[in-house]
Amino acid sequence: MSDTHAQKIDKLVMKTYARNPVTFVRGQGCRLWDDAGKEYLDFLAGIAVVNLGHAHPGVASAICEQAGKLVHVSNLYYTEPQARVAELLTANSFADRIFFGNSGAEANEGALKLARLWGKERLNGAHVVITMKGSFHGRTMATLSATGQDKVQKGYHPLLPEFRHVTFGDLDSLREAWDEHVCAVLLEPVLGEGGVVLPPAGYLAEVRELCDKNGALMILDEIQTGLGRTGRLFAHEHFGVAPDVMTLAKALANGLPAGVILATEKAASLFGPGAHASTFGAGPVVMEAARVVLETLTKPGFMESVAQRGGYLKAGLDKLALAHPRAVAQVRGLGLMLGMELTAPCAQLAKDLLAAGFVVNCTQDKVLRFLPPLTVGTQEIDALLAALGAALAGFVPA
Ligand SMILES: *Cc1c(COP(=O)(O)O)cnc(C)c1O
Repeated sequence: MSDTHAQKIDKLVMKTYARNPVTFVRGQGCRLWDDAGKEYLDFLAGIAVVNLGHAHPGVASAICEQAGKLVHVSNLYYTEPQARVAELLTANSFADRIFFGNSGAEANEGALKLARLWGKERLNGAHVVITMKGSFHGRTMATLSATGQDKVQKGYHPLLPEFRHVTFGDLDSLREAWDEHVCAVLLEPVLGEGGVVLPPAGYLAEVRELCDKNGALMILDEIQTGLGRTGRLFAHEHFGVAPDVMTLAKALANGLPAGVILATEKAASLFGPGAHASTFGAGPVVMEAARVVLETLTKPGFMESVAQRGGYLKAGLDKLALAHPRAVAQVRGLGLMLGMELTAPCAQLAKDLLAAGFVVNCTQDKVLRFLPPLTVGTQEIDALLAALGAALAGFVPA
């Protein structure tokens, strides 16, 4: 008998992932189907990637049309799709200029290079970047060094040395780490992979003020929080601050690989010809997907609908927390970026939910993370809440 697809992947692909025993073949909106025809509700959206839902008709037709027209010409020339997305991103954000790459780690890597130039040119060679414990910024050498989690760094020492990790949300910890060598602070507005952790009130505004006072760049990693996930186009809008530099990726092209650095003119001006580059960045097919994503997210009323759906899911999770106080420690989040911290590890519970037809994520051992498509419906949320309630009823903390 020949191997299944899963067996082939287990045998032939490097073992960097702990995979679940499901082979998906098709998606539509919030629904997925596996190779046995079983239906699932997706409360993960890839990992905060397929924000408009699977097989979005507008994205599908835009990329099909573009694929038949022009797929690649490199960045030595101009293309119309790149112009449109640059215009949409700057018109709807603080940014004056964009750099186009292909992934989150790559966007952060570029932002860190920009911080180096900033320190060199504006701060007498300052080169230290302050980042947060519990953060996640990617898997390249620079971004895993920036990441404040041992499990991501294990085995890869010596790391890039010029990072200082401080406690997220703690201003004293930030002030203590600051000296004349600091050129930038890099942080997620809400820790994502770190367990859906919100900053205390006023924290981001204080970080902004410290950066201004010291001439350092404030770099926000909105790779997970951005593009509507929290009920605003960018999460920093909730906190009344704007960064100097921001990175986006995950949801930008609804599943095609894309990452961008957005910056003010004053920061962006340090990147001149030859300073940074990407072969695939801003490929026309990817840009067409991003155009549809951005046009959809900026439609009047779209963000309000995300906030409303998020409020509905959060209210349901809060109710379950009240009903199962021995199992649930806390529910938290913003918009459709929600976490339910359990009183014991949740990996098995996530597996049980998958078997019951619900895709959810377990992060930081005990946090169930919900990142559904931004179009998730009330009935779909109700179905998840019913299944989760049943699972929590059988959840026995150790
Ligand atoms: C996913 C993620 C990254 C890394 O993105 P990749 O595309 O996997 O390189 C970086 N930062 C945050 C906050 C993320 O959620």
